[in-house]
Amino acid sequence: MLITLCYTSRKGENIKVYNLVVLGAGASALMLVSQLCKEGFNNILVLDHNAQIGMKIKVSGGGKCNVTNEKVDKNNYLGESSFVKTVLDVYSPHDVLNFLKSEGVEPKIRSLGQYFCKKSADEVINVFRKKASCVHFSLNEKVLKVHKDKNFILKTNRRILEVKQLVIATGSPAYPQVGGSDVGATLARSLGHSISAFAPALVGWTVQKDQFWMKKLSGISTPVSINVGHKNLAGELLFAHKGISGPAVLSASLYWKKGMVEIDFLPHKALKKLLSQKNKQISSQLGLSKRLTKSLLKAIGVEDKPLVKLTQQEWTKLALLKAYPLSPAGNFGLKKAEVCSGGVNTNELDAKTMQSKLDKNLYFIGEVVDVTGELGGYNFQWAFASAVVCAKSLILYRKSDDT
Ligand SMILES: Cc1cc2nc3c(=O)[nH]c(=O)nc-3n(C[C@H](O)[C@H](O)[C@H](O)COP(=O)(O)OP(=O)(O)OC[C@H]3O[C@@H](n4cnc5c(N)ncnc54)[C@H](O)[C@@H]3O)c2cc1C
Repeated sequence: MLITLCYTSRKGENIKVYNLVVLGAGASALMLVSQLCKEGFNNILVLDHNAQIGMKIKVSGGGKCNVTNEKVDKNNYLGESSFVKTVLDVYSPHDVLNFLKSEGVEPKIRSLGQYFCKKSADEVINVFRKKASCVHFSLNEKVLKVHKDKNFILKTNRRILEVKQLVIATGSPAYPQVGGSDVGATLARSLGHSISAFAPALVGWTVQKDQFWMKKLSGISTPVSINVGHKNLAGELLFAHKGISGPAVLSASLYWKKGMVEIDFLPHKALKKLLSQKNKQISSQLGLSKRLTKSLLKAIGVEDKPLVKLTQQEWTKLALLKAYPLSPAGNFGLKKAEVCSGGVNTNELDAKTMQSKLDKNLYFIGEVVDVTGELGGYNFQWAFASAVVCAKSLILYRKSDDT
C-alpha cells in the first residue's frame, strides 16, 4: 500500500503516512524499484526534483551511457575496499548486461572494456521506465529536510510526509545542471550520520602559471599515464583551454587531493630505445605530434637538436618526458565533474544490506555513499549493485513482516 493512513497535524497540515519512499529517481533508485516491482511491491513513492527520471543516465557517456565495464574490481574505486567488494560481489557487470538484455537492450563493448548503448542512453531509461510499473513518481518535488520522530518526517517544497522506510538515493552535487545536489548530505546529517565532504571528481584540472603552455595546445589529445599517489592511470590526455582533461586526467582526478602528480608522455616506451639515432633531431624520434613535441621540449628546457649534441644535463632533463611533474591548480568545478568523491561514511552502513547502522528503516544507495569509481562504467555498476543489495534487504524485510 502506498499510504497506510492520513492525519491532521497539530499545525493543521494534512499528513499522509507512507510505507516506503525512495528519494531521487536516478540510476540507483531506478534499479532498486525495478527489483521491488518484480517481487510484487505496490505503489512505491519515488520523489525527484527533476521533471524527468534518470537525467544523469540521459547525459552519460556522451549520450550513449557507458553502462558498465567488462572488468570491475574494488581497486577501480575510491572507498573502503572490503565494503566496496561485498557490494560489488552481489551484482556483476554480467548481471547488468543480462538485466538489459531481457528487455532487448544489448550494449556494445568499446575500448578498455567499456559497454555503451548502441543508439542512445534512452534505451536504458526506457528499460527502467518499463520495469517501474509499481511506482508512483512524484516529479518536480524537491526534498528539503527530514527528521526522525516515530517515523521519518520529510519536508518537500510541496508537503510534509511521514515515512516508515526511507531510501536516500539522491546522488551527489556533481552536474547541478541535471539535478545534482548535496541534499543527501543534509538529510544524512539530520539523521545522525557523518559525511565525508563531497568534492568534484572525474573532472579536468586547471594548471599553474608554469603550465600555461598546455592551454595553447587546446584540442590536442595524446596517450599518457599519470602517477597520482600509489595509483597509475592510463588513457588519453586532452589539452583544454582551461587546463587538461580527457579520460586519464578524469580518472586521476579521483585520487588527487593536492600536491604533485607525474605525467608520462611516452607511456610503454623506453626513452633510450626511442632515441636511438644519434644524428637525428630529438623531435623526429619521439613519435608525438609536432606542436606537442615543440611545447614539451620547451617546457623541460631542452633545445631540439641531434642527439650527439646533447649534454649530460639535457639527457637528464629529457627523462622528464616520462615523469613530467605537475601540481594542478584546482579542477574545473562541480558543473563539469561527472561525479563527486565523498558521501555517507561506509562504516555507518551495513554492506550486506545498505542499511544504516543507526536506524534499521533507513538506507543509502548509489553515489550518496562514500564510494566513487573511476571513469569507464564503474559508477553505474556501483549504483546498480548497491541498489540490488538494498532491494534484497527490503524484500527480506517484507517477507518477514508478512509472516
Ligand atoms: C555528464 C555525466 C556523464 C556520466 N557518464 C557516466 C558513464 O558513462 N558511466 C558511469 O558509470 N557513470 C557516469 N556518470 C556518473 C553516474 O551518472 C552517476 O554516478 C550515477 O548516476 C549515480 O547514481 P545515483 O542514483 O546515485 O544518483 P543520480 O543518478 O544522480 O540520481 C539522483 C537523483 O536525485 C535527485 N535529487 C537530487 N537532489 C534532490 C532533491 N533535493 N529533491 C529531489 N530529488 C533530488 C536528482 O535529480 C537525481 O535524479 C556520469 C555523470 C555525469 C554527470
